[in-house]
Parts: sequence; structure tokens; C-alpha cells
Amino acid sequence: MTSSCRKDRRSGTKAQQFPNADIAHQASAASSSRRVQVLIVGLGPAGTACGLALANSGVDVLAVDRAYFPRDKICGDALTGEALAYLHRHNVPSRIIQRSFGETRKPCFHELTPTLAEAGGYSLIGMGLRTQTASFHTIRRIDLDNWLVECCAKADVPMQFGWQVQALHRVSASEPWTVQGTIRSRNGQLQGQFQISAEVVVGCDGVSSVIQHLSRDPRAECPIALASRRYCKNDEIEDAVEDEDISLMDHQWALNPSYAWTFSVTGGTNAGIYWCHHRNIPRISGRDLLALTHQHAPRGDAIKTWGIPVLTEQPLAHAPSGILLTGDAASLVDPLIGHGIDRAIVSGELAGQVLAQGFQTGCNIETITRTYENKLEIRRRGWQQHIQQLENALQGKDHTADQCSKALLRAVWRRSSEKA
Ligand SMILES: Cc1cc2nc3c(=O)[nH]c(=O)nc-3n(C[C@H](O)[C@H](O)[C@H](O)COP(=O)(O)OP(=O)(O)OC[C@H]3O[C@@H](n4cnc5c(N)ncnc54)[C@H](O)[C@@H]3O)c2cc1C
Repeated sequence: MTSSCRKDRRSGTKAQQFPNADIAHQASAASSSRRVQVLIVGLGPAGTACGLALANSGVDVLAVDRAYFPRDKICGDALTGEALAYLHRHNVPSRIIQRSFGETRKPCFHELTPTLAEAGGYSLIGMGLRTQTASFHTIRRIDLDNWLVECCAKADVPMQFGWQVQALHRVSASEPWTVQGTIRSRNGQLQGQFQISAEVVVGCDGVSSVIQHLSRDPRAECPIALASRRYCKNDEIEDAVEDEDISLMDHQWALNPSYAWTFSVTGGTNAGIYWCHHRNIPRISGRDLLALTHQHAPRGDAIKTWGIPVLTEQPLAHAPSGILLTGDAASLVDPLIGHGIDRAIVSGELAGQVLAQGFQTGCNIETITRTYENKLEIRRRGWQQHIQQLENALQGKDHTADQCSKALLRAVWRRSSEKA
């Protein structure tokens, strides 16, 4: 194993690499009222990607987040090729990325031919497929999101922190949206209120999106999967973690794509369970998931569980004119594996690009809204096809080893072409 992928010994529970990215953008104590063309709500991967795509576009934009950064976000911290490619384009410092060998364990893998291992860049190890290089990448979300906010600060994206959106309304379809909420200090004290008038509101506010909730038909279906996470420092790692440079996805439940993970992250491991709520997979309660996670990872910090809004086969319901939903607010997470950072970035950047072009060319707000939705729908359909391929392979619907190999290889090739 190369030294470049060995773990460092930082404790890893706090973002240490950057000064507080929001320091120059503190919440103002007084109540605030303003008018902008675009309001971005939420500064996770979706909101920051949208802000960066709008930087220097000439569009009058404001981005708000209820949190102050650095802040934690419950996540597995694993990056897909598409997310990684975006981060490299923006010169992410390699010191906050942890590389490790990725291993996927699944009982049916022992039937696979050695050809798969060679052709796909994997080694067959018992019931597992392990990458032959340290190609599995993770970043703790506290570091990732703080760095993304810092990128926005450097690109002069106007931002406010401690601003929580609570209400959204408009007098008529031809009027701008009015967005209201509270301003709190870093220690949670109420400092005032804000009211913003915006031609377009971009909902980047995650799984419990207020923008989605207030602007959509409340009956619209948004399936939610469940996942848990606990961090474990290097000195707490049990013998059960056989090698600290392996990031493991263990599909322990027969005919169920849910899996337990132990991912190598800076300073320790990120362990958790992704419980897939897809098709007819039996649901799990938060309490049962906590208990299962404790069995899987007996030591570490507090176990937290959170909902994950997953992609459905149905196209997204249309949002009202002037509302663009991105990332988790648009339910884009892969239902089988549970990754959504990449989709948050893709949709946030797409929203920013469509808005920049739309305002620069004088499009009306309805055209901008539908252009974004149509382009996102094309991406959604591509993701949906990919899920079908993976589902066939993971659930053993492709019965022969040969068919299974081909399905997995297609998934690998697709991922490497996304990376390029
Ligand atoms: C346990 C778990 C494990 C996961 N593991 C992975 C993984 O390994 N890899 C992966 O790719 N994905 C993973 N995901 C999914 C991933 O975390 C999300 O898809 C991703 O964070 C979505 O990004 P986002 O920008 O849409 O929302 P978020 O990251 O949730 O950001 C939303 C932002 O909006 C702000 N906000 C919310 N409400 C308001 C409001 N009312 N007013 C103002 N601001 C507001 C929040 O403070 C936050 O900063 C995991 C999710 C969970 C729960």
C-alpha cells in the first residue's frame, strides 16, 4: 500500500483546514429587507455549485444559509467520479481528500469470473470485489462544505449566514416571490428578521426543504430512504476493520441492496448503514436502524440517522414559475447506493448556468424555470437507466456470472467516463 493513502493522525472531528469560511459574511444584527434577481436558499453542495455558476454573471444574487460554517452534515462522505471531477476542476486541496481501496461485498460475487476482476480493475477477494488502486475518495462533509463556501466567498458570491427561511409567498404569478425568515447569531440568539423579494428562488435547502414544501403540491410523492452515520477515530478502530485503508460496502441482507459501510476518512472511519427504501424492500424504523448500526460499528461518536430523498421513476412535478429545486430538495439521490453529493452539484450548477444564460439573454422567468426542469429531467433519465443496470447486477436478476460481469463493467466504464 502506498504511503499517500495512509491515514493521517488528525482527530478529524472539526474542520481544521480553513478559517471559518463565513467570517466575512456574518449575519447583520439589524432586520434586513432587500430585492434581488436570484435568491439561493441553502449553501450545501447544491447551493454553492449554483452560486459559483452565477459568480461574475452580472445576475444580482444572494445566497443564505441557516447555519454558520464550518457545520457538520450527516453523510457517508464518499465521492463519486462526477463529484470528484467537479472538485478537481475547482482545485480542491488534496489534503482534505482521503483515498482508500474500495471493496464491495456481496454473496453472489463469488460466482463471478476472474475476467471481471481483471477487466474491471478489481481483485476478487472471497465474496468481495476490491479495487486494485486506492480509487475510493472521501471528504468529511464539515471540510467539503466549508471549502465550497470558501470558494463562493473568493468568487464574491454575496452570502448571509444564520438566515433561516420560514415563509414564501407571492401576490400573483407576475409578481416576484417574497421570502421571509429569521436571523440568528452563531450561538442561536434571535437577532432580527429578513424579507427578500426575488424573481427566482433556488431551493438548495436539502431533504426537509422549506422551498419545496411551500411551493409544491403537498401530495407530491417524495420517497425517503434512511441512513445512519457514526465517526470513529483511529485509536477507536476495532480489529474487525481489517485494514484501515479499505473502504467497505457490505451488502449483508439477501435480496436487499441495503448495505453497511465502513469508509476510511481523514483521522478515522465513517461507519453507517444505508437502508434502501426502493420498490418492495421492507422498511426499517429509525430505532431499528440505530440498533443495527451499533452492532455494525460498536465504537465511535453518537450514531445519527437521517432521511434521504431518492430519485423516482416518475418525472419531477412542475414547480411554479420562479422556483428551481436542486439536490436533495429535488429528490435526486440514487436509491440503490444513496449518493447525492454529485447530483446536488450537477443540479445546482445546472440551475446557475440556466439562470445566468436566461437573465443575460432576457428570457422570461417561466422560460427559465421550464428550461431548467427540462434539462434536469434529461439528467434524471440517465441516472434512472444507470440504476436499472446496477439493480439487475446487485439483485442477481442477471443470473449468469457473464451477464453480471457485463452489467458491472458497464457501471465501471460509465463511472470512469464521467470522471474523464
Ligand atoms: C447518512 C447519510 C449518508 C450519506 N452518504 C452519502 C455519501 O457517502 N455520498 C454522497 O454522495 N451522498 C451521501 N448522502 C446524501 C448527501 O448527503 C446529500 O444528497 C447531499 O448533502 C445533498 O446536498 P444538498 O446541497 O442538496 O443539501 P444539504 O447538503 O442538506 O445542504 C442544505 C443546506 O441548506 C441549509 N438549509 C436548510 N434549510 C434551510 C432554511 N430553511 N433556510 C436556510 N438554509 C437552510 C442547511 O443548513 C444546509 O447547509 C448521504 C446522506 C445521509 C443522510
